[in-house]
Amino acid sequence: MTRTRRRWRSAALVAAIGLGFLVAPGAVQSASAAPGPRPSFHLPFPCGDQWRLDSWGHAPALDMVRVPRSATEGSVIAAPADGVVNQSFYHSQAGNVIQINHGGGWFTTYRHMQVRYATAGHQVFQGQTIGRVGHTGPTSNGTPHLHFELAVDANGDGQASWGFAGSERVRPWFNGVEYAQSNGQTWLHVYSNNCGEMPGVASTSSRMHVFVRGTDRALYKKTYAGSWPVSWTRVDGSVLNSAPAAAAWRDANGAQRVDVFASGAPDANGITQVLQKTSYDDGNTFSGWQVIGGNLTTQPAATVLNGTLYLFGRGTTETSTAVPPPGTTTPASVSTATPGTPGSGAPPTRSTPHPARRASATTRHRPGTSVPTCTPTGSGGAVRRRPGPVRRSPAGAWGT
Ligand SMILES: [Zn+2]
Repeated sequence: MTRTRRRWRSAALVAAIGLGFLVAPGAVQSASAAPGPRPSFHLPFPCGDQWRLDSWGHAPALDMVRVPRSATEGSVIAAPADGVVNQSFYHSQAGNVIQINHGGGWFTTYRHMQVRYATAGHQVFQGQTIGRVGHTGPTSNGTPHLHFELAVDANGDGQASWGFAGSERVRPWFNGVEYAQSNGQTWLHVYSNNCGEMPGVASTSSRMHVFVRGTDRALYKKTYAGSWPVSWTRVDGSVLNSAPAAAAWRDANGAQRVDVFASGAPDANGITQVLQKTSYDDGNTFSGWQVIGGNLTTQPAATVLNGTLYLFGRGTTETSTAVPPPGTTTPASVSTATPGTPGSGAPPTRSTPHPARRASATTRHRPGTSVPTCTPTGSGGAVRRRPGPVRRSPAGAWGT
């Protein structure tokens, strides 16, 4: 009987431990190595800037200089996604360094900064200025540039090592495009889409809706019906990777509806999912988010022509061809709807559910998760000196 009781007790203890894991996901997460979905990263520079990216001999790290290069020194560095500053300090080799923790195990690191405007623990939002490009630290070789690294906390210690082969750095992604797969690569004129967010607006016959993305990246709305409410209404808690777009319209079935669109998280193939939410009661209640296609690199824009809804946004290549609605020409300013996205076809209606379009998913590369297999030095954040400059560019390498 004592034995039985003991057995029961240990069973209860096991159950309690299991429950402990369930109710304390934060504690479990810090000990597990599984990273969350990759945030939707922009180039770490203000909207519209153009930069040259080089992997030199330290892929997947990138060195960045501005176009024109003479404008590099002092250029603003903007957070590529929301996050919390994890490190901000002067390193004897790398100069002024900032590292941002973007959540889910994803980190970005910036070296040789002229000046740092954020200190450890500061919450930063996408597009926020965190410092300026410089040439601090001896490994900058005195050449103004930004050394950038994306990293994944692979060992689950809550940190991301950087600065040496074998650290937790991985291939960078900007606007859904992967960079620095190998050494000796150059990208010219990479355009920053790290822009501010516009609200999505839509009006029915009697009401006007405004939709924004909150600082928690969830969808919020205000509805005007004779007056404005004081507070924003949180529509739901799904994390969005872009600001919303909205359209109020009467569809092919004659149904009055309000649709809201936004980009969601990338799927396993790195394809950013475009989401849709619909209301059939004048915007009072919305259905859940539905995945309707993939891979816009901008906030979408929505409009309606003759009972058909069209969605526009820039794709991952600047040569994307617009697919205009029948009988119209596409304005030049909206010339980059992406083939294979909702912009290229008819929208969902209630009678014909919209199939998810993932035809191109199998041809895409998976997100870069491999790291160099060199032996780590074991000291996170350490900078290893390189044997010499990397040849390949007439301009010469500008350090590590
Ligand atoms: Zn470098």
